[in-house]
Amino acid sequence: MQNRSNQSQRQSYSQSFNLFQNQSQRSSFTDSATDPICATICTSARKAIYAHGRSQLPKESCGILLGLNGSTHFDTYVPIANHAADPIHSFRPDPATWTNIVMSAISNQQQMILVHTHPSTPPVPSSADAEGLVLASGLMYGIIIVSFQLSPFSPQLRAYRLYSTGREASFDQPYFQPIQVNYD
Ligand SMILES: [Zn+2]
Repeated sequence: MQNRSNQSQRQSYSQSFNLFQNQSQRSSFTDSATDPICATICTSARKAIYAHGRSQLPKESCGILLGLNGSTHFDTYVPIANHAADPIHSFRPDPATWTNIVMSAISNQQQMILVHTHPSTPPVPSSADAEGLVLASGLMYGIIIVSFQLSPFSPQLRAYRLYSTGREASFDQPYFQPIQVNYD
């Protein structure tokens, strides 16, 4: 059952990815790993991420943060239901909602950041994250992990850029590069 769920998610990512490949490439997806990487998140969106994450504890929550007019200024958070078989330790965005948001964002030229929470572990990509996010790497500007390990009211937010290396990801490879997050 878990395998079927994963397969379904991968197909969904894959369909979205193929769609993206048909669009003209955006410049931000061609920058090199040595460029400084930044994102600005509006306070209202950050609060929405924290509130959604807190409301789903002890389960992981997920959603997509949308940018403003093709920029890396992110102002809208869209929660997505987590349909993972084990939502305490993993996440699987509802495929239909995922596809709708991604298609809309691509047609509106909005950058996307995939957001999920770690209820009781640090804001660091897990091995499951690395495996599950490979196909999303071409679609997303990056990922955000919000950890509630300290307390539900002390969220820790970290952002990472995703690089698809074409080989199995591992922690000691520069697969996730930190993104400097600014708030306004
Ligand atoms: Zn994770």
